[in-house]
Amino acid sequence: MPDEDSRFVIVGGGLAGAKAAETLRAEGFTGEIVLLAEEFERPYERPPLSKGYLLGTDERDKAFVHPREWYSEQRIDLQTATPATALHPAEHQVELPGGQRLDYDKLLLVTGARARRLDVPGAGLRGVHYLRRIEEADMLREVLVDGARVVVVGGGWIGLEVAAAARQRGAAVTVVTPRPPLESVLGPEVAEVFADLHTEHGVRLRVGHGVETISPADGRVAGVVLDNGDAVDAEVVVVGIGVTPATELAEAAGLEVDDGVLVNAALRTSDPDIHAAGDVANAAHPLLHQRIRIEHWANALHGGPAAARSMLGQQVSYDRLPYFFSDQYDLGMEYTGHAPPGTYDHVVFRGDVPGREFLAFWMADGRVRAGMNVNIWDVTDDIQRLIRSGRPIDDIRLGDPRVPLADL
Ligand code: NAP
Repeated sequence: MPDEDSRFVIVGGGLAGAKAAETLRAEGFTGEIVLLAEEFERPYERPPLSKGYLLGTDERDKAFVHPREWYSEQRIDLQTATPATALHPAEHQVELPGGQRLDYDKLLLVTGARARRLDVPGAGLRGVHYLRRIEEADMLREVLVDGARVVVVGGGWIGLEVAAAARQRGAAVTVVTPRPPLESVLGPEVAEVFADLHTEHGVRLRVGHGVETISPADGRVAGVVLDNGDAVDAEVVVVGIGVTPATELAEAAGLEVDDGVLVNAALRTSDPDIHAAGDVANAAHPLLHQRIRIEHWANALHGGPAAARSMLGQQVSYDRLPYFFSDQYDLGMEYTGHAPPGTYDHVVFRGDVPGREFLAFWMADGRVRAGMNVNIWDVTDDIQRLIRSGRPIDDIRLGDPRVPLADL
């Protein structure tokens, strides 16, 4: 255990950073912890921003990872609006705005990811929104009102959760997406469930299209023009076209970077005193036997603590299976595992798909690679067990709701 004269610096004030700081203290680290956050707000969780908070059912305060006073109580030196500007691994120093340098013994990079910007004429107009930060959710809550005309660009998780919230707030919603929504994550078999869900709730899906321009009127958004020339009127455009990992500091410092900061299963980078976790880390996954960069909440929640333990010198092999959840209208789902299109050969359904109360299993070589539960709960442990076992599972029994998952 490093002694009380050690200083650990956490670069990044999101969920992974806050949870890493919490774990360092919980594991008995008595040294100095400095948490550098780029944003003005203390660390918060992002799932409510596109779900309960956006809908208006969750309070803003619920999003924060810890109460404000927790940081001083735990002797965590939280510095908000203070992005690290450079790393100097050879000197064990991190540079702050203004050029001041801070020594560190161990450093954790949890710089996360940034929303990819839409690069079309008119993208800078007033009325074009992104949803990554809490203040962006604040702004969206103001404009997703009854009767508003909203175009959502991108049919990923942000796109669909925003579309659901906007519809529930009474807005007219069009989703513009080059491919069917969520198809690149879930494949066509299950993606169809989400397309039907949104269509039934009155969302207009413009599949197979991109946005060519965003048209102005009086300096703000008046609509979008699609790549086939169709015009869609709108006062609000929400862009959710993915994120890019914030690797600039790591790259400039000479750390190994390739679609994220490369880390081993102990979440250590190519520098032994620098770890990385969360959206920015591209980790060697011991169970999946591949590198994987996971952009979901659960990876920040668990990866931050795992990195913290690794920084303390504990043996860590971070083998959590990817997990995420979503809520859209009356559909709640959880997904566990990793089986994007091209890596599975078929999907086994179990339960009532049209009634949206079912499980889906993505299969490869007779084995379960990923599973999703829709409006059925408390099955994640069973799904994880099936994936982790690596055993061949019979499709017929897997798809039969009368066979308990525990018996498979
Ligand atoms: P995302 O889930 O990666 O989806 C991006 C979508 O945008 C994809 O459907 C992509 O299509 C599409 N796209 C890419 N370029 C486009 C363009 N020029 N025009 C129109 N569509 C385009 O990313 P996101 O929805 O922006 O979400 C941001 C991050 O937050 C992601 O990491 C996401 O996983 C995470 N998030 C997670 C949840 C959850 O777990 N429930 C909720 C919200 C956000 P193709 O894939 O076909 O290229």
